[in-house]
Amino acid sequence: NREEIPVSRTTFTPITDFTELDLSPPLAKAIVRAQYTTPRPIQAETIAPALAGHDVLGLAQTGTGKTAAFAIPTIEHLLAHQKKGPRGLVIGPTRELVTQIDQEFRKLTARTKICTMTIYGGVSEKPQIQKLERHPDVVCACPGRLLDLLGRGFVDLSRIETLILDEADHMFDMGFLPDIRGILQPLPEKRQNLLFGATMPNKLRKLAEQILVDPFVSEIDHSMPAKTIEHALYPVIEKLKLKILRHFIRQDDFDSAIVFTRTKRRARQLAEKLGKDGHRAVGLQGNMSQSQRDKAMAGFRTRRFDVLVATDIASRGIDVTDISHVVNFDIPDTVDAYTHRIGRTGRALHTGEAFTLATPDDASVVRA
Ligand code: AMP
Repeated sequence: NREEIPVSRTTFTPITDFTELDLSPPLAKAIVRAQYTTPRPIQAETIAPALAGHDVLGLAQTGTGKTAAFAIPTIEHLLAHQKKGPRGLVIGPTRELVTQIDQEFRKLTARTKICTMTIYGGVSEKPQIQKLERHPDVVCACPGRLLDLLGRGFVDLSRIETLILDEADHMFDMGFLPDIRGILQPLPEKRQNLLFGATMPNKLRKLAEQILVDPFVSEIDHSMPAKTIEHALYPVIEKLKLKILRHFIRQDDFDSAIVFTRTKRRARQLAEKLGKDGHRAVGLQGNMSQSQRDKAMAGFRTRRFDVLVATDIASRGIDVTDISHVVNFDIPDTVDAYTHRIGRTGRALHTGEAFTLATPDDASVVRA
């Protein structure tokens, strides 16, 4: 019930072409080079209000083009005048996501002087500290490591002009709220806030109310990606799951799949079993080191692997298009998690299939 958040009264007509925005030439050219010919719905709705300086609350999933939706107005603002950074701060839940955000910023700031960097845990902090000393314009960070570096005086957030919270709902689920509150402390009171998430649970609405001032709210139709997805439910007993999965992989229309398991251990074991069968499968789960995770992702992107066996958390924010199948080897815990998982197929107008293996124990989730 988002009516409770005071919503900006100003109305903006959605743009139909990026040229309507009258962006600085280097940014306009980068958009053309990226081959973003038509604005995606979230971009059509939110870029103009963000450029006008409004706070924005965007309800949109990964894959809808939301990164460019917040990157474009942030970059335009940075290009308007030169000042010492960091001036833009993006916070996201996972290393994979902040890396993708950083890449999107780089794509759109090529041939400008704007400099971006990532901060996340699980890797050496020294290179990150050294980059911070050079005053990057935009910092894309996971909450934990950022708060750590902040506490030890390696980050100065007193010049932040735009704060972006991406996948805010996931950060909430992952228990990052106290860290985020800590990060908000040193930020200047006067700043622009852009908050994005796929869903708006009650707990998150509270935070949004505290952070956003008179926001422009945009909600992108959640059923949209689902229109290109076929859903199928297979009632099974636990010990038949592997056999059925092998059957899916052998079908003619099988191209690539993300297979979701409930636990890290099951992800690892299933990837190993499929590998022994001769399938090109790789696991992606939280117990892997950063370089192992990067390798798995790169291998899946370049099709060295065609099956990625992942847990929910490890897979968050991953943007790989062209996945033909999502298989819920274990049923997700919640309806939201289902939407997130199957959102990985049927992207960018490709069609996809979402298969869910449900055991008798899963009856209540199936009903939901
Ligand atoms: P995101 O939701 O930000 O993860 O974006 C999903 C994908 O869509 C990314 O690979 C972007 O490069 C791509 N993308 C974003 N905006 C557009 C656009 N207007 N036209 C075509 N592709 C886009």
